[in-house]
Amino acid sequence: MRLSRPGPVEGQPLEMADLPDPMPGPGDLLVEVAACGVCRTDLQLAEGDLAARRLPLVPGHQIVGRVTAVGPDTPGWAVGDRAGAGWLGGSCGKCGWCRSGRENLCEQARFTGWDSDGGYAEQAVIRADFAVRLPERFADLAAAPLLCGGVIGYRALRVSGIRPGERLGLYGFGASALLAIQVALHWGCQVFVATRSPAEQRRAREMGAEWAGSYEDPPPVPLDAAVTFAPAGDVVVAALRALDRGGVVAINAIHLDRIPEFPYDLLWWERQIRSVANFTRRDAQDFVDLAARIPIHTLAEPYPLTEANTALLRLKEGRVAGAAVLHAGR
Ligand SMILES: [Zn+2]
Ligand SMILES: [Zn+2]
Repeated sequence: MRLSRPGPVEGQPLEMADLPDPMPGPGDLLVEVAACGVCRTDLQLAEGDLAARRLPLVPGHQIVGRVTAVGPDTPGWAVGDRAGAGWLGGSCGKCGWCRSGRENLCEQARFTGWDSDGGYAEQAVIRADFAVRLPERFADLAAAPLLCGGVIGYRALRVSGIRPGERLGLYGFGASALLAIQVALHWGCQVFVATRSPAEQRRAREMGAEWAGSYEDPPPVPLDAAVTFAPAGDVVVAALRALDRGGVVAINAIHLDRIPEFPYDLLWWERQIRSVANFTRRDAQDFVDLAARIPIHTLAEPYPLTEANTALLRLKEGRVAGAAVLHAGR
């Protein structure tokens, strides 16, 4: 399903195209795609809110599949292996960030389904050294949502510095937070969830949150760390206000309108505000392995690959329960 001209998803910007079989080059894997998650970033790309890096393009960056061919000089992988690919599709490997395990900050980083054709297809070529080994515990459909919202939520938890047993705030309770809360509870954290939606507040309590309220309500105790998922600067300040001394707010949002002015007192006592950019290979592998041990429960709403436009439309309309996932077949 290929994007040539971005536009409103109501107009079905993705078209079915019959493309030649891709060939894996040195260091690449050819993967038969079994499932591919549908992310809000794909929606932004399809509609042109995120500028395409090249067109035409096959979107999709939560790829689950089996290796059907291994490129030359590509050790460590064999035909038949199960492989996953996420948003970070490659980096230079030479810069200071890459050499210090922070390839998510690499200026040459390449992104799956943005710089290269992604997983809204029957086959995809991915870089072997950025491929994730997926635990067998997860079926294809269940594994796909782990590869974007799941991994990024996990990195956000790490950036927030939260440690087992501490008090964590989650601000916003969408797909990514639904996975992050399961990790935090597994770590024995007390979790406090802020969201505007009463239904989401209820769900948070059912999942084991200590407390759930709206953004304006202060949690009953000061928090050691917080992660914000809502793309609104006001929410960052609300989270900062809830922090104890030395606490960190990790912002899990690519775009934020602005952060409103706030008194320095809120930041004083070594509180910090940090952004979370993409994730590293290490994050992805650590997270899927941990997810299998917990085990994390994902809720996939399946769509046939040919229904990609419908999946994007339903995501736009807020009508997807859990995560939309495209699958091969009808
Ligand atoms: Zn994504
Ligand atoms: Zn680099």
